[in-house]
Amino acid sequence: MSLPPTVANAAPGRGHLLRLAPGESVVTLDRHLALGGFSAVRKALVMGPQAVADEVRRANLRGRGGAGFPAGVKWGFLPKDSPKPRYLVINADEGEPGTFKDRYFLERDPFPMLEGMIVSAYAIGAKTAYLYVRGEFVKPIAMLERAVEQLHRGGYLGKSVLGSSFGLDIHVHPGAGAYVCGEESALLESLEGKPGRPRNKPPFPAVVGLFGCPTIINNVETMACVRLIADVGAERFVAMGLPKDGGPKIYGLSGHVKRPGLYEAPMGTPLRKLVYDFGGGTIDDRPIKGIIPGGSSTPVLGSEHLDVAMDFDSVKAAGSMLGTGAVTVFTEGTCAVRLLTRLAAFYAHESCGQCTPCRDGTGWMERVVSAIEEGRGRPGDCDLLLSIANQIMGNTICALGDAAAMPVIAFVERYRAEFEEHVARGGCPFEGGHGHGHGHGHEGGNP
Ligand code: SF4
Repeated sequence: MSLPPTVANAAPGRGHLLRLAPGESVVTLDRHLALGGFSAVRKALVMGPQAVADEVRRANLRGRGGAGFPAGVKWGFLPKDSPKPRYLVINADEGEPGTFKDRYFLERDPFPMLEGMIVSAYAIGAKTAYLYVRGEFVKPIAMLERAVEQLHRGGYLGKSVLGSSFGLDIHVHPGAGAYVCGEESALLESLEGKPGRPRNKPPFPAVVGLFGCPTIINNVETMACVRLIADVGAERFVAMGLPKDGGPKIYGLSGHVKRPGLYEAPMGTPLRKLVYDFGGGTIDDRPIKGIIPGGSSTPVLGSEHLDVAMDFDSVKAAGSMLGTGAVTVFTEGTCAVRLLTRLAAFYAHESCGQCTPCRDGTGWMERVVSAIEEGRGRPGDCDLLLSIANQIMGNTICALGDAAAMPVIAFVERYRAEFEEHVARGGCPFEGGHGHGHGHGHEGGNP
């Protein structure tokens, strides 16, 4: 498993987040130091914890894990008067289909994230931080353990960070191999050694988190952004993005584009620029049929949305979500029903089974969508799918229920005629699909 070939920046040279120079495969500690590494920690230690937290709040950094909640505001939810220890937990359980941005830091350039962890732990008053890494990332986990060891040896971690009175330990923890462990409360359960089942909320982790103590859970890319804020200041960070949604963003591009990969660009970069300028347009210049803008759970958009700015508020206004900024493009010739069967199967498989609407609903949706694709669909199935999905929405313990329901609703609404055609002709009308007697070898294939 490795990253796609393209890891590029909107401007030539190193970016603020994607720092690999051409020909470079890993940014080592020495390279990180040569690039000004740990200046953010040094600056933070001079500023003091509250000033760092204020700076992050002023930077309008919205969490990069998908929900887009302002990081500084989240930190402010920690109880002021609790005698319990505080923990910082980094969610590196990246598992949403289509999303591969955090893997860049884990595999290629871990020090900005680790530096951001030191700055964040200092700001929130945590002396222990955990890095919960997706279990399948075997090589990155070994590499991260080595990186943490190097930081200990260099005096960047341990009892006295860079000679200061602030001490921090970072523990790298392999994940439990389930998508739901990326849900923050399931992650905490898993970190505590229990099955990764989401908790009922409230209480929220900031109040009752890891081992019952106040805990902040942030995403990997968010940590790299915190480092940048401590280094360049809130004002410059905001100027790298939008006033209410500051900073640069790592966008992922996959599917039927000529140059899939990761691209750093200002928050709010239009979809068209991502797909055509960075991605080189679609394979064989085929017309776009759909764009999943932010990971598999985000509602599919169409080519009429190409001028939407890719920031949290603009994508929401367009009827979807920025999510992780992982854009998956598919072109005409792709069977929307078949694509949805894959998404539905994924969510049905990953449901933890705690709540009925998700446990039963995800499997039910999968069965109905598969039946339509395989030629066993019945009139009324589209409405049945919408009804199941709408009964899941908002009625579950965690967001996985919504994540499973949203693509179903969006696909049925956008491609309803195609679903109905499958039902009417008793099979898939696309080559390579599950139609009666159709050939195989569909050129582009489904993403
Ligand atoms: Fe588990 Fe699904 Fe309920 Fe989340 S919504 S707690 S994954 S059953």
